[in-house]
Amino acid sequence: MKYLISILLALTVSFSAATAASAQETTASAQEKIRVLLTFGGHGFEQEPFFAMFDAMKDVEYTKAPMPASADLLKPDLKKKYDVIVMYDMVGDLSAEQHNAFVALLNEGIGLVSLHHNMGAHRNWDEFRKITGGKFIFEPCEIDGKKYTKSGWSHGEDMKVTVADKEHPITKGLKDFEIHDETYNKYYTAADAKVLLTTDHPKNDPKLAWVQDYGKSRVFYFMLGHDAKAWANPNFAEILGRGIRWTAGK
Ligand SMILES: [Zn+2]
Repeated sequence: MKYLISILLALTVSFSAATAASAQETTASAQEKIRVLLTFGGHGFEQEPFFAMFDAMKDVEYTKAPMPASADLLKPDLKKKYDVIVMYDMVGDLSAEQHNAFVALLNEGIGLVSLHHNMGAHRNWDEFRKITGGKFIFEPCEIDGKKYTKSGWSHGEDMKVTVADKEHPITKGLKDFEIHDETYNKYYTAADAKVLLTTDHPKNDPKLAWVQDYGKSRVFYFMLGHDAKAWANPNFAEILGRGIRWTAGK
């Protein structure tokens, strides 16, 4: 009996120790997680698989931010609670005050990942193309002395993606790949953005992904990602995850 009690005691002690250790691990990993504010709205998408992709990112915790309802969050205070904003919204214009607050936040520094149709957001706010380095053109216009006609898109295309920058942390070690996704063309891209991915698809402009700085913020624009078929491509989630880490400064 004494023997049995000592076994039970030993088991209890080791169980408590294991519980304490796993609690510590949980605390440590929670602290290390990259805190993401994820905007969406203004364009339909398959919500369940989209959010599931973020659920699967072990080093990311995120908050859903429907737009434009959450637009008031985009101000300097946000950097106390979040490391990165991932924008998948395509909202129209915000107020001048909201625009100024967003610029002030970026000037102080926060990661920004702009994804797919976010290129078409804030269509009348010229500063937004300077922030992301891209713009989907809805009406013919002139930017920096160059004339643009309307941008186009085509669903369900098979695209070859070439890793143009083999040294950047977002693309280093990746191989060229193919993806079934939507193409865009005739969009504006900033001449001095650093291009990471390109395509030779005839219905798409060559530049697919790029990075640049805006204020004290790192910005990553990634054109791919129309639907669950694209998100299911392991390259997509890998590049998105790396983009989040890189803009967070990790
Ligand atoms: Zn799309």
